[in-house]
Amino acid sequence: MIISTDAIVLRTFDYRETSKIATFFTLEKGKVSGVMKGIRKDPRKFGSSVDRFSVNGIVYYEYSHSTLHLISQCDLKQYFFKLREEYRKNVAANYILELVDSIMAPELPNQQIYELMVDYLNTLEVSSDIDKLVHAFQIKVLLYSGFRPHIDSCVKCGKKIDGRVRFSMRLGGLVCPTCPTRETSFVVVSKGAIASMLYIESHKWSECIKLKLHKEIQQELKFILNNFLVYHLEKRIKAGKYL
Ligand SMILES: [Zn+2]
Repeated sequence: MIISTDAIVLRTFDYRETSKIATFFTLEKGKVSGVMKGIRKDPRKFGSSVDRFSVNGIVYYEYSHSTLHLISQCDLKQYFFKLREEYRKNVAANYILELVDSIMAPELPNQQIYELMVDYLNTLEVSSDIDKLVHAFQIKVLLYSGFRPHIDSCVKCGKKIDGRVRFSMRLGGLVCPTCPTRETSFVVVSKGAIASMLYIESHKWSECIKLKLHKEIQQELKFILNNFLVYHLEKRIKAGKYL
């Protein structure tokens, strides 16, 4: 079957003498990998240099017996020049590629995640509040991929929670003061940090980026989200340590 879709480049590597294998996150089919035959011998064969985080229109032959397909066309649509010039922005762009690559199984379509990535990259080009964008992305990607932390109520007894509470990495959510927990993998989290996470989950990207986050809340979100992701993905996102 021939598929035509928009696609964000996650990563590429050289394959055999003249080809490349590229992994994209596509609008229609989620994470897709394919061979680009002859691209290193004749770069003009494709209308794109297939650089990381660029948006491309791709056409590929979908093989039913393999998850490695044959890409016949790749045309550049958006390149994000500013993200290539500034070091921190470049790291923040690469961070979400690695995160989506780790969190999403191959060929699982997820239009919300595709649109989130495009929104994030566009905002990152013009915004200087990089940490806030990263946190908003982390919260939304956890929600859209089905890994969201349980932050509406106590993960053990289901009671509504008010004030400062514990966040358990292992249980993946908040634990109220009356529920016993022997574990050590929890942190104390403020009401403000929880409210910010709930706000970001329930609002559009354009509204989330206008949200004001105090330094202390940003610090809390950074700690909770980074540790939660490491705990549940069972790996550290390499680009994350430079953020
Ligand atoms: Zn409880």
